Amino acid sequence: MGTIKILPDHVISKIAAGEVVERPASVVKELLDNAIDAGADVIEIDAICGGKKCITAVDNGCGMDAEDANLCVERHATSKISSDADLFNVRTLGFRGEALAAIAAISRLKIETKISDANKLEGTLIVADGGIIRENRAMGCPAGTRISVGDLFYNVPARQKFLKSDGVEYGHIADVIASMALAHSGVRFSLSHDGSPRLSYHRTGDLRGRIEDVLGEDVRNSLFEFMESCDGISLRGFVVKSGLTRSTTKDMYYFVNGRPVKDRILQHAVLAGFETFLTKGAFPIAVLYLDIDPAIIDVNVHPAKREVRFANGGMVHDFVQASVRKAVTIKSTQITGVGEAIKRFEERRMWDEGRGTRDEGRRTRDEGRGTSDERRVSSFAIFPEGDSSPSNAGLRPLGQLARTYIVCEGDFGDLVLIDQHAAHERLGFEELKRQLAKGVIEQQRLLIPEQLKLTPKELSVLLEHLHAIEKTGFELEPFGGETLVVKACPSLLGDVSLQHLFEKIAEEVSAFGSFGATNDVVNNILAVVACHRQVRAGDFLSHEEMAALVRDLEATGSSHCPHGRPAIITINRAEVLKWFKRA
Ligand code: ADP
Ligand code: MG
Repeated sequence: MGTIKILPDHVISKIAAGEVVERPASVVKELLDNAIDAGADVIEIDAICGGKKCITAVDNGCGMDAEDANLCVERHATSKISSDADLFNVRTLGFRGEALAAIAAISRLKIETKISDANKLEGTLIVADGGIIRENRAMGCPAGTRISVGDLFYNVPARQKFLKSDGVEYGHIADVIASMALAHSGVRFSLSHDGSPRLSYHRTGDLRGRIEDVLGEDVRNSLFEFMESCDGISLRGFVVKSGLTRSTTKDMYYFVNGRPVKDRILQHAVLAGFETFLTKGAFPIAVLYLDIDPAIIDVNVHPAKREVRFANGGMVHDFVQASVRKAVTIKSTQITGVGEAIKRFEERRMWDEGRGTRDEGRRTRDEGRGTSDERRVSSFAIFPEGDSSPSNAGLRPLGQLARTYIVCEGDFGDLVLIDQHAAHERLGFEELKRQLAKGVIEQQRLLIPEQLKLTPKELSVLLEHLHAIEKTGFELEPFGGETLVVKACPSLLGDVSLQHLFEKIAEEVSAFGSFGATNDVVNNILAVVACHRQVRAGDFLSHEEMAALVRDLEATGSSHCPHGRPAIITINRAEVLKWFKRA
């Protein structure tokens, strides 16, 4: 006897609903999608008990006539596409025709809607419980649409059990609204919870202003905007490069054609773009808007439309990474705002005044007729000898502190400390990258090949990325079991524990998975290699060595080691003056 049965309709719709609606925030997201697709520019959301008891969305969009209002809760009913070919030309947020049907199946739904036609006074009311229409009649209502979703999951108790506290569910709703608000700055969004107003994003044509409103006070005035484009993709991005970071990925946002998406490729690309500018555990603040030809993305890969698939993910990845990298590395002087420019001007003025003081002091000394007052002035003059211009004088090493830091004098008489190990790491990294760009990394063959004892996971990660590892100058050979043999290393590496080095490389590259971006893997390995060269903290450096290290570091234009720790710290001259109560 056969054991396969076709499921009854009400079970099918619950299964389908389960894919679309996971929690109250998913309902909010679908209602927002619909309101935006309807052209609304004012959307109000009210949630009761974290949206578990009731969610109401009111919009001023195009509304529906009686016929459409009747159809909209049917499964696969949509006004947005009509053929499969349209799936690759989606410009709306919705297109599956499933959301309202799914929501209706698992809640008590009420829709009041009227098209914005001055001649029409009557709108339509639809009331449904668990997808069954209870009421359907004409009624007077304002133009636009008001949808309330009550008692979510009242007929799916198993789902109810997975819901979290009101506060947690409310938080998810607020997140959904924040990301929609970032995507649509021309729309006014407001959210209230249990009757009290909680969020309100005013309509603004200005994307930067909207991002500042959503991400919070601390990013105000520190967003750097950039635009890039290449075949079929254009990118408008905002990043914070002042060093302000988050401890989670919460302020990394990506929008593809106005749709907020969670996407590993984009996430990875942004992190790789920031690469060595982040310390471990710190995540950047980045908001990226991609406009992509709909023909080269598939939006139909996730029931809640949270994901998209790119026809050429590798290309999108590299484009985004390169764009972010460029934005992050543009010299700060090129991007600083008026305030910063004024500050630099003031510093230069102070320097010039200081120099004037020194000259005076010297003349006084030379001429041997200084007053005590003049002498006091001259003895506190600390400016560099010689007439190098202050703006490009570069760093002048003064000495070594604790055999770990190089103490320098910087532009405008700033006090600059350089961590010699971090600087050395950065130089090694840049040198390896330079060799790689020239074609090959200089290699040194080992007289006695060294065996690495690895865990199965380490082994599989290393084998997966063998190609990238060999690009960095290593030569590896499987030796049976969990053993690999190292036959050659990059010459720059010197005498280090290869066992430790490869454990570290396995840890670093395991985060990459196996998608396309060999360059990141290579860069990461180079950073590990640079870090494993002989540690130089504690080494005595001669003046010439210091000067060479400082000069080389300056030439790289980089102020961080490849892992993102600062290599240089600058203490403003004004700060030093303050210590001595001179300011
Ligand atoms: P989809 O958005 O994928 O088309 P939905 O189930 O979300 O599917 O909505 C079905 C249809 O109902 C939409 O295509 C649209 O025509 C109509 N609709 C839903 N919400 C609104 C709204 N707020 N204003 C106007 N029309 C709406
Ligand atoms: Mg929809």
